[in-house]
Amino acid sequence: MDANWQSQVANAFRNPRELLEFLSLSPELIGLTDTPFPFLVTRAFATRMVKTDPKDPLLLQVLPTAKELESKEGFGPDPVSDLDAQRSPGLLQKYQHRALVISTGACAIHCRYCFRRDFPYQEQQTTRSRWESTLDEIRSDNTLEEVILSGGDPLMLSNERLREIFEDLDAIPHVERIRIHTRMPIVLPDRIDDRLIELIKKSPLRVIVVIHSNHPNELDSSVSSAIERLLHAEATLLNQSVLLRGINDSESTLSALSKKLFDMKVIPYYLHSLDHATGTAHFEVPLEQSKDIANRLRAALPGYLVPKLVQEVPGKDSKTPIF
Ligand SMILES: *Cc1c(COP(=O)(O)O)cnc(C)c1O
Ligand code: SF4
Repeated sequence: MDANWQSQVANAFRNPRELLEFLSLSPELIGLTDTPFPFLVTRAFATRMVKTDPKDPLLLQVLPTAKELESKEGFGPDPVSDLDAQRSPGLLQKYQHRALVISTGACAIHCRYCFRRDFPYQEQQTTRSRWESTLDEIRSDNTLEEVILSGGDPLMLSNERLREIFEDLDAIPHVERIRIHTRMPIVLPDRIDDRLIELIKKSPLRVIVVIHSNHPNELDSSVSSAIERLLHAEATLLNQSVLLRGINDSESTLSALSKKLFDMKVIPYYLHSLDHATGTAHFEVPLEQSKDIANRLRAALPGYLVPKLVQEVPGKDSKTPIF
């Protein structure tokens, strides 16, 4: 595998037909090739898919289908009211003491269920030219203890850019923690390179890395090595998943995921019920079934391996637990 992560992004699959060919699957599987939300999958992620299986749980996360064109009531372009939470372009705050930075619109993979599929990244990302005003906003509010780098995927930024961001945040006395929400350790493990590790390790701030894995098949030895490197950097590692129909909607799959994460020293954090973004309704697990899965998980696992099943309800002061 090519060690340079940028060239791996450049060489990612950008046409579903190429991926299906790679998996020895018929191109008839896709009902839709030109989707408004483009297709993108790294080869590193695709190698963990089971060849010839049209129901592979990793494939189903990325394969566009005609179902994306179905509209459904209650599903829309801004499902969690991100735009109402804007403090300045690219800086969102919904909850006390923490604010979220849309650091880039780019990702190394396009998850079809993504809640920010239609996010207006052009106007709402903290490009370099907007960064000073973002910083001013964070500096001016000494209740902000934690800054969450989100996107898109913040680890699509270069190490140089991340270093500047870290240094600027380090210099703000009331900022104590930086949290990175990223799928890169899963979809492009080589992104977790030495310079990134050095940067995290040297930061005087506490660094939390929240990875995003939905299925145990995503976790192979390359992911485990990336996690190992993050542990060397003394980051705290958490995982968030999205509960997805036909992909991880069973106690056994989610139990296996939690155990595998724990073996890698990653603690399950959230299990998100699907946010209602346009074109994602086919991923939804009905509420009663979600609760049933959560109950079974609680019975099957020690408490520390049970992710919190939550829903994001616009206007609430935290994610909302589902019981
Ligand atoms: C989800 C989210 C957070 C993180 O919430 P935690 O419960 O702290 O993980 C923070 N800010 C925004 C805007 C969010 O959407
Ligand atoms: S990596 Fe995250 S932000 Fe990017 S497409 Fe997937 S869910 Fe959306």
